[in-house]
Amino acid sequence: MTTYHEITCACPLCARKFNAFALSTISSGRTFDLDLRPHGPQRAAIGAGLFPCPDCGFVTKESDHGITDPQLQKRLQQMIRSEDYIHPLFGTIEGRGKTCMQRAYIEDLIHPGNGYEYYLQAVWAADDADGQKSAAALRELALLSLARKQTLSEEEELIRIDLLRRTGQFEEARAHCRKEGKSPLFSLIAAVQMRLLEKKDESCHAFAETGTESN
Ligand SMILES: [Zn+2]
Repeated sequence: MTTYHEITCACPLCARKFNAFALSTISSGRTFDLDLRPHGPQRAAIGAGLFPCPDCGFVTKESDHGITDPQLQKRLQQMIRSEDYIHPLFGTIEGRGKTCMQRAYIEDLIHPGNGYEYYLQAVWAADDADGQKSAAALRELALLSLARKQTLSEEEELIRIDLLRRTGQFEEARAHCRKEGKSPLFSLIAAVQMRLLEKKDESCHAFAETGTESN
């Protein structure tokens, strides 16, 4: 079951207070795709923790604090007024996907590389909405954001492999699959990815195909 509760948010940028609905409980699904896209109720709740400010459009989340660094404040203010922020991907992405993408921009500006998580959520929303063009562009953006991270966890490396496969960058995906010194789980998933890469398969595959538990 999915339930929500009302909260009061304060926009970290313009200080406007507004009410929004935050997620209280959600039945946890135990199935995922290879890029960790959840199935079931969690899929419907993508972007649920993000709240666009009704005044300035800054997409905030519950754990945000007021932004006090004047330089960062200025850069964020410029960004949220830019055409690319207001109409991301030339207006081809709307709804939850747009909100996730706007947060990805913000996140990458505050902590370079952290935006990938929100690009990924935007990918999932776009997959469900149109499944084609904007999802492909968002996968490229998620990869660019990941490239800005200093170190990647194994989970992030596996997500990168799936993003590379889904965008047809087979050789690069293979090179990452062949990395040594990884956990048995990594090797298992990498072996599944290698089989898909051999077939130049760019389609969506479920975690269950690896024959492991999904958590
Ligand atoms: Zn605001």
